Amino acid sequence: MSVAAEGRPLLDLQDIGLQFPGAAAPTLDDIQLTIHRGETVGIVGPSGCGKSTLLRIIAGLLVPTSGTRSLREPELAKTGQIGMVFQDARLLPWRTVLKNMELPFELARQPVDQERIRKLLATTGLHPEDYGKFPRMLSGGMKMRVAVARALVLNPRLILLDEPFAAVDDLLREQLNNELLRWQQQFGFATVLVTHHLGEATFLGNRVLVMSKQPGGIIEQIDLPWSTRDESLRESTEFAKTIGQIKKHLTGSLAD
Ligand code: ATP
Repeated sequence: MSVAAEGRPLLDLQDIGLQFPGAAAPTLDDIQLTIHRGETVGIVGPSGCGKSTLLRIIAGLLVPTSGTRSLREPELAKTGQIGMVFQDARLLPWRTVLKNMELPFELARQPVDQERIRKLLATTGLHPEDYGKFPRMLSGGMKMRVAVARALVLNPRLILLDEPFAAVDDLLREQLNNELLRWQQQFGFATVLVTHHLGEATFLGNRVLVMSKQPGGIIEQIDLPWSTRDESLRESTEFAKTIGQIKKHLTGSLAD
C-alpha cells in the first residue's frame, strides 16, 4: 500500500469525462482518483491537458459530462472546506490583508474568528503592522503567503493549489514549499497541487500523477515515500533520479 493510500478517503472521482460545450473533443477522459486525508497529490502534465479543469471538478465548480464525484466526508460539502489558491493570489485589491482574511467567513455567513485569523497570519511571517496594508503594498511572496493563509481560515480538509508559486523565483519557491509543508503538518489538510515544476511536485507530493495530452487522463502514478522533506532530500541522488523518471513519463505523454 502506498503512503498516500494510508489516510481515510476524502473524495472520489470515478470515470470522469469532460467535454466543454461546442468543443470538438473531450478535455478529460476516464479519470479515476481518490484523495485521502492529509496527503499531497502532485499533478503534472503537458500544457492544456486539463489540469486546471480537473481541479475545478474536484472543487465542485465544474460538473463533469460523465462520471461521478463523491464526497467521502460529508463535511467537505460545507463552504470553505475545500480551499483554492491560484497563481495570481486573487486577493481583493480594495481590501486590506486583514479584510481579505475575513472574506471566507463572510462568504460562508459565519462570524469572523479574529483569533483564527491572527493565528494564521502569525504563520505567514507578516508583521502585525502589515495586516492593515493593501495587496499592492506586499511583495509577491507575501501575497502568496496571505492567499494560502486565507484558504486555511475555515480549517479546510482539502486545499487545491493551481500553480501557486509559478510567479516567484526558485529560491522563494523553495521557501514557500517549506512553509506549505509546515502549514500542512500544523493543520492536517490534504493538498492537490497542479504544477509545471517537477521539483516542487516531487518534494511536496506523497505521489505525483502524470497526465496525458488531450483528452487528459492519468497515465502514471509515482509514489514518493520520502521520510523527511528537507534540503538534504532536494540534494539527494534519489530525488534527482525521481525527477528524471517523471520527466520521462511526461515526455512519453507528448508522443503520439
Ligand atoms: P496549463 O498547463 O497551460 O495551465 P491546463 O492543463 O491547466 O493548462 P486547462 O486550463 O484545464 O489546461 O484547459 C484544458 C483545455 O480546456 C484547453 O484546451 C482549454 O482551452 C480548454 N478550456 C478550459 N476552460 C474552458 C472553458 N471554460 N470553455 C471551453 N474550453 C475550455
